[in-house]
Amino acid sequence: MNIGKHILLTLILTLLVIFSLYSLFQNPSKSSDAEQAALAPVEDPWITQTIPPGGSIFSVLANLELPGTEIGMVSWRFGEYIDVSTIQPGDTLRVILNDTKDKISKMMFVQEPTVRHYFEAQGDSLIYAREALPVYKRDRIITGTLETTLDAALLSSGLSPADKQNVNNGLEGEIDFQTDARKGDSFQVFIEERVFEGKALPRAKILYVSYEGERTGFHELFRYESDDEESVLNGLYNKEGKSNNASGVGYPLSSIHVSSSFGRRLDPFTGGWANHQGVDYRAARGTPVYAVAHGTVTSARYNGGYGNEVRIKHPSGMITIYAHLQRSSVRAGQTVKRGQIIGRVGSTGRSTGAHLHFGLMSNGRYINPNRLRMVGAEKLNKAQMAEFELQKEKIRARMQNQSNTAVAKAE
Ligand SMILES: [Zn+2]
Repeated sequence: MNIGKHILLTLILTLLVIFSLYSLFQNPSKSSDAEQAALAPVEDPWITQTIPPGGSIFSVLANLELPGTEIGMVSWRFGEYIDVSTIQPGDTLRVILNDTKDKISKMMFVQEPTVRHYFEAQGDSLIYAREALPVYKRDRIITGTLETTLDAALLSSGLSPADKQNVNNGLEGEIDFQTDARKGDSFQVFIEERVFEGKALPRAKILYVSYEGERTGFHELFRYESDDEESVLNGLYNKEGKSNNASGVGYPLSSIHVSSSFGRRLDPFTGGWANHQGVDYRAARGTPVYAVAHGTVTSARYNGGYGNEVRIKHPSGMITIYAHLQRSSVRAGQTVKRGQIIGRVGSTGRSTGAHLHFGLMSNGRYINPNRLRMVGAEKLNKAQMAEFELQKEKIRARMQNQSNTAVAKAE
């Protein structure tokens, strides 16, 4: 018995020695190559930049010490595909430079782990491609009661800060929280979240919100969604189809994609730093441009770098500016209503492509138009309302389904 074990062990050891010797002689060059490769510094052609707090696409590109005109051009192309208002600290930009280090030959932008935006130089332009990893969508019901503030309650119920803000904005249009909110009030939020590698990604789709309190009564909001993903109408509405924040001004376009934001940027023409006195929205040539609020047209003319431009003075004294228009359809002195078409998107003046430049002036100074509270609609129209009714039923059915599943799990 003991001897048998000993023989077996010896046999195994002998086989192991033979095998190691065999592999050593079989492949001597390969193993030494691998060792050398491991020792030699690997040159990674990708330069990785992380967007810092308060940073922008311009600031990280400026770190690469490229000519200003190149940065201006790259940023312009970037903004055509990525809504720059969604850029957040922590997003990463990776680039490969050309041999002379004065041009970008490849660029990759990662905002969330599931989507990669690729840009590749071809001649003077950057070709865009998008790669998305599969995510699965999950419905979730969140309920809670008020202890101190709605903010605190929403956050502790597991909503991300961005989603919390949307719920908050929606409810603030319905309820006066200052006077009517009470400890013990209850709320329910129904979201569609995207799940990747077992974790929910931030920015869920908020489908339903309800709030109930002794002083506030019962309020419900439902998501309305049009066919266009970037439509300004997409969002929360109450049962009557009234917008959650109807007190704001309208958007100048029916769908919004910010291609360049307010503030310092590199000018694609001069290559120098310049203050961008407005917001650029990507839009196809000929897209209607709307007055954001009631007012009087103070000028409708060709204004140098701004091309065809319309300026409207509003009762508050603020002036809104709509530039690079293909043509304007209003005259100086004319009064306009909110939502009235004042012109069409174009690329007149100093412009690298079709877009709307939207500016805002207060007391003779340009201010960031983001400070305006912009809303898609005060109320959905008849056709939209019919669609909204159908969507509401679908949302209710999904919620019912979700609570059934939750009950089944609990049992
Ligand atoms: Zn602009």
